[in-house]
Amino acid sequence: MDALPRRTTVVVHVGGVAIGSGHPIVVQSMTNTDTADVRSTVDQAAALARAGSELVRITVNNDDAAKAVPRIVEELDRAGIRVPIIGDFHYNGHILLKKYPECARALAKYRINPGNVNIGRKHDENFRAMIETAVEYNRPVRIGVNWGSLDQTLLMRLMDENARKPQPADARTVMLEAMVVSALESAQAAERYGLGHDKIILSAKVSGVQDLISVYRSLAARCDYPLHLGLTEAGLGSKGIVATTAALAVLLQEGIGDTIRASLTPAPNGDRTEEVLVCQQILQSLGLRSFAPQVTACPGCGRTTSTFFQEMAEQIQTYLRERMPVWRERHPGVEEMRVAVMGCVVNGPGESKHANLGISLPGTFEEPKAPVFVDGRLATTLKGDNIVADFIGILEDYVARKYPAN
Ligand code: SF4
Repeated sequence: MDALPRRTTVVVHVGGVAIGSGHPIVVQSMTNTDTADVRSTVDQAAALARAGSELVRITVNNDDAAKAVPRIVEELDRAGIRVPIIGDFHYNGHILLKKYPECARALAKYRINPGNVNIGRKHDENFRAMIETAVEYNRPVRIGVNWGSLDQTLLMRLMDENARKPQPADARTVMLEAMVVSALESAQAAERYGLGHDKIILSAKVSGVQDLISVYRSLAARCDYPLHLGLTEAGLGSKGIVATTAALAVLLQEGIGDTIRASLTPAPNGDRTEEVLVCQQILQSLGLRSFAPQVTACPGCGRTTSTFFQEMAEQIQTYLRERMPVWRERHPGVEEMRVAVMGCVVNGPGESKHANLGISLPGTFEEPKAPVFVDGRLATTLKGDNIVADFIGILEDYVARKYPAN
């Protein structure tokens, strides 16, 4: 399912993953382990891939990290995890890629930040060296502009040009324009140095929602490269999730964005895979892709004074998530199933009828019984202490019947 047409017409292949045009929007993530620590990086990359990350990026920041890259890719391969690994380079990528050809070969894509290679200066041999390595190994590149490391030479040039205009724009507008120009001019330079048009993905990340929307609208209007979309430094907890969702939803709805990442700050010892689940939920909520069955649950109100239905909604959501790895293999299409768990008779039967499977629990003072709807029809009514287990039994039967193995 990819309901909205993308603006991009170019398709870039990263390992076995196609990005752009009519291809499904790709979920990606990044490790936060020390890349030189092969074991930790392999474990985290594997966890991200198992959670559904279709590309995983790792930082390649020094000699030890570059030496570790081929071992990381090999170990993932040995564990049966075929996720393409992307190298994130800053400042010294031109040195590391030349010095460690096995690293250059093992990576499926290189991320280059034009703000910290010397593009825009008089000589841009560092940028050129990275592009030539990409050409040599036939690897695609993401030209990833970030406002925290924007090319200062370019920014000054645009500021000077702006100052000479009869009606100069404000500094913020010039800065956002500099982000877009940095990405586009770097892409032109990369093509001049031999990189194919279909080997380039662009990003231009800022941390403000409205700024991100402006930058990507401009970028999408001025090029046909696939776009990597993400709000940089989105932040912690609900703030990071909501800000990322707000920005990405607007752009995705307009057909902008071919691969996405949620740059969330995890809680100390938190689960890094949360950023993958957030990306999946954004895409599924917009109806762009399906990853797991969705549970519709009412918020509860004064008609549900016990926590029974909240607990039941949670138990069913957890059950669905835990069963998905097996179901995904055995029951294709199950990720599009919708389940409703509702708190009382007011909206319960109605909402349940719109789901594949729905249960309407008894509210306070209602008769202690729970009607179950299957494909919109009342199938049975559950009573007693085993409502959750009984409902899960109905769920398993439904999945086996409705989504048979190929
Ligand atoms: S379905 Fe019932 S319990 Fe749930 S919010 Fe509506 S009225 Fe309240």
